[in-house]
Amino acid sequence: MSKSSPDADTVVSMLHELYPHANCALVHGSAHELLFATIMSAQTTDVNVNRVTESLFKKYSTIEAFADADPEVFSEEIRSTGFFRNKTKSVLGAANMLMEEFDGVVPQTMEELIRLPGVARKTANVVLGTFFGIPSGFVVDTHVKRLAFRFGFTRETDPVKVEKDLMNAFSREEWIFLGHAIILHGRAVCNARNPACDRCPLIGACQQNGVAASSA
Ligand code: SF4
Repeated sequence: MSKSSPDADTVVSMLHELYPHANCALVHGSAHELLFATIMSAQTTDVNVNRVTESLFKKYSTIEAFADADPEVFSEEIRSTGFFRNKTKSVLGAANMLMEEFDGVVPQTMEELIRLPGVARKTANVVLGTFFGIPSGFVVDTHVKRLAFRFGFTRETDPVKVEKDLMNAFSREEWIFLGHAIILHGRAVCNARNPACDRCPLIGACQQNGVAASSA
């Protein structure tokens, strides 16, 4: 870390204080439910996905049931999550590959997960971290990307490079927690348009505030 890097330890301990129970907001009861919910969460809110999956997971209760789903019917069922045709292809494609190549079991490695249709590192990290407790990397969504930049942990915009910077900045045992906690802080305080720096407990550890203060 460079001299001007923010204090990672302070950020970690403050986030633990602020969000001690930070966890994934997508409702799921199995690895494949979390996998499919995460695929469906692209470009929409977790609340919206939960609304859809409440009945969806009852109707399609196994990976096999997803693999056998009628794409036309399925795409109507998930229409309200947006980009429903692509998401249908990804979810049903992933279910089929799980049945055909993984014995109907969600794999527990990054290399295997990112082979599934519609699954990149972010989705794989959610499943590995949240469900299996494996810190394989950092979940980099729009909130994590924005806050990593504002805190000063990265100058990158490409999610894979942002993830690498975060993995270098924080110890491995914090990666899963931080992914969840940073998202919560992004939603509650440090939102995209109007970060509430004046009421942000992390103000002392955040470079964005330093830049704003020195240029004021
Ligand atoms: S001080 Fe402002 S920019 Fe920094 S984390 Fe808090 S709200 Fe976000």
